[in-house]
Amino acid sequence: MNIYNQHYEKVGYAERIGRLLVKYEGEWYADEALTKWNEIDELFEEEKDEKKDFISKLLDELGIDKEHQRKFAFDKVDEELEHIKRVWQIEKEKRIKPSLWWKGVADKQSSQTLNTNNNAPTLTNLSKDGKAWFIHPVAMVDYFPGAGIVTYQIYHDGKIEKHIPEKILPGYEQKYKYVYHDKNKKIHELGIFTVYVTKAMARGNIPQEHDVELINVKEFENGYISSDGSVKAKFATFNSDHNRWYINPSCFAGLLGAMLELNADYLGFNGFSTHDAKSVESQSHINGIAGDLRYISEKRNGELTWLSYSTFDFDEQEKFNTALYKFGWARTSLMYSEYFTYKKQSNTLLKYTKHMKKAPPNGYDHYHHLHICGFDFNLIINVQD
Ligand SMILES: [Zn+2]
Repeated sequence: MNIYNQHYEKVGYAERIGRLLVKYEGEWYADEALTKWNEIDELFEEEKDEKKDFISKLLDELGIDKEHQRKFAFDKVDEELEHIKRVWQIEKEKRIKPSLWWKGVADKQSSQTLNTNNNAPTLTNLSKDGKAWFIHPVAMVDYFPGAGIVTYQIYHDGKIEKHIPEKILPGYEQKYKYVYHDKNKKIHELGIFTVYVTKAMARGNIPQEHDVELINVKEFENGYISSDGSVKAKFATFNSDHNRWYINPSCFAGLLGAMLELNADYLGFNGFSTHDAKSVESQSHINGIAGDLRYISEKRNGELTWLSYSTFDFDEQEKFNTALYKFGWARTSLMYSEYFTYKKQSNTLLKYTKHMKKAPPNGYDHYHHLHICGFDFNLIINVQD
């Protein structure tokens, strides 16, 4: 068997064990199990002594008192027990290995940063005492290098890599993982998200031949915060009557990058596309590549904020727009906003935006939200692992 096959076997084995763990919880945990099973080793010794007593009495009854004859009988007992013990060791090995596997994952997990994503089980779900109910997928992947999940590696300097492993971990074929590398070279597991595949739409919601992938941003509802609280991202509010929660996976990486740069946990998410990649309310929100965010409020709570409000945080908004650009947005076209008056300066326009306002009946306004678009997909670096 070559290494690749061995590895694949191991992953398959781990999967099955994982399912058993769900059923039998702590029973498989190494410390507890080892203690239990080593107690059985002691039973063999007790058994041996009992057997020898029994043989000794038997020999006495039979009148066998010659030393070499008695020794022969006792040696047979020893031999037989050694054989049983060897068989038992092999059996024990088979039983204990999965437990050690559990412990390895649990230990690894406890050293990772806290993940607040609801869909990925948090590290507390796999406790070190073996009482937990399921395996943390992130830890599981790390435990089996070589097989993995398609992962977006987002770097603080704006670089985004999409890593595609040679072998996808079973059960993770339709999942993407997002990881952030901060300026201190700390790695943050942002979460694992389901990838939805649906027909692409042309403007006017006309179905196309090819498919597109979408991520449900609602899976990121709890956001991310590192264990020390220094790195975070979250949407404070979700505001769409039409469930426009779906975003292109690469665009999501770019948006996360911009949010993490500012530790933005205060954005109002007004929506990208529907689950079937359609645009509602606006024309251009197809395929999850364009969407709306509320302008940033000084209250940092995702509340509705107009450009004209005194609570509008102009400086933070400019920083955020710059971060969006850094992570790939507004590259192929400018984002949409409107002229407004800021500190008596009329015709102020936010960075990387253009004035997009049109009179009714088919009009649109951007005084109450920022439309982000123009993501440059060519900036994503594809890496085959
Ligand atoms: Zn829009």
